[in-house]
Amino acid sequence: MAKTSAQICSFCLRPRTEVDLLISGHKAEICSDCVEQAHEIVHAESISRPKSKSSGKVKLHKPKDIKAFLDEYVIGQDEAKITLAVAVYNHFKRIGQASSKEEIEIDKSNVILVGETGTGKTLIGRTIARMLQVPFCIADATVLTEAGYVGEDVESVLTRLLQAADYNVEAAQRGIVFIDEIDKIARKGDNPSLTRDVSGEGVQQGLLKLLEGSVIGVPPQGGRKHPEQKLIQVDTRQILFICGGAFDGIQRRIADRLSRQSIGFKTEGKARPQDEEVLKYVAPQDIKSFGLIPELVGRLPVVTYLSPLDASALKRILTEPKNALLKQYKRLLEMDQVELQVEDEVLDLIVEKALEYKLGARGLRSIFEAIMKQDMFEAPDAGKSILRITRELAEQRLAQSQFGKAA
Ligand code: ADP
Repeated sequence: MAKTSAQICSFCLRPRTEVDLLISGHKAEICSDCVEQAHEIVHAESISRPKSKSSGKVKLHKPKDIKAFLDEYVIGQDEAKITLAVAVYNHFKRIGQASSKEEIEIDKSNVILVGETGTGKTLIGRTIARMLQVPFCIADATVLTEAGYVGEDVESVLTRLLQAADYNVEAAQRGIVFIDEIDKIARKGDNPSLTRDVSGEGVQQGLLKLLEGSVIGVPPQGGRKHPEQKLIQVDTRQILFICGGAFDGIQRRIADRLSRQSIGFKTEGKARPQDEEVLKYVAPQDIKSFGLIPELVGRLPVVTYLSPLDASALKRILTEPKNALLKQYKRLLEMDQVELQVEDEVLDLIVEKALEYKLGARGLRSIFEAIMKQDMFEAPDAGKSILRITRELAEQRLAQSQFGKAA
């Protein structure tokens, strides 16, 4: 009796001859492939399942720890980091409290990040999610449209979160959703009663439903809902929403409001205040005047900003973060036994080009790549060697690339 069962894996039923290793237990056997698969399942579960499930408590990261973690990956933007660190800390306190019968219900602190493209909005959201090990997804507000029009239903935002959580609904319900380009669904024109635009206000109404905290039927594969499709019910009460947008021209609205209020903000003579200087006063009413409906603004009570990145910040981005571009290229070439040395002036050149082409931090990578391409092509055959990139060489490489033409 024991003889036959000893010959096959009790899980996949393959015989001993077809597997690498068969491990015997009490009245059962398991092959090495099934052990590995089981290990992956256990690992995935332990990541996506909230800590509260096993210990009854959510692990709290203090705001200072969250900020310190962000500092390893994101340069500058202290105001946004501190604001988010506190919002996330409170979010987890709130989750911890939800199970107990407390009298004071803590409101959710969904966040709006205002800042030019490429200043680190998504990076901050992504880095926080990495630290907390909760499901995280990025959704683009511009692809969403009101039901009945071409585009994606608002609920598809939650599809992405479910996918990030491997369809573990409970984990998804404690996740973080980053909605990018929220400014692009602003109402066109200041007068709310004039028109009703489907791609703007309709979508905002849809998002409001998610942000308010309710049970939403989510299409498992995203896109448009079909009547015959089975929907997954997701409760959004505990999901933290972070919305990002460039809000082009919001500085003017802030400055106008401040000059109307004329408290705590004085402009010297006739000079208009610098845009960066104004941004730090951004408040919910500016977001509203930009064209987000008041109900939605009310559900996004925490507003903060990211400053445009200047030359010195861009240079730091090249070298300082844990996975800075310079470190990445050094590591790549190290694998070919090549020691990469990059002159400081080359970093300045990359920054100059990024600013010249108005590419911000997003451009650093493609400019660096254009400089390195030829040498990375040759590196595998170079043998153990030192590769020194001088400014002159870098300029030559750029002249031959798409960055050779004047901006
Ligand atoms: P945004 O969401 O504001 O448009 P991202 O966060 O997507 O911009 O930034 C694009 C890329 O630029 C990031 O992946 C990162 O490599 C780099 N980057 C932008 N801002 C920063 C920053 N403050 N610190 C470090 N890297 C940054």
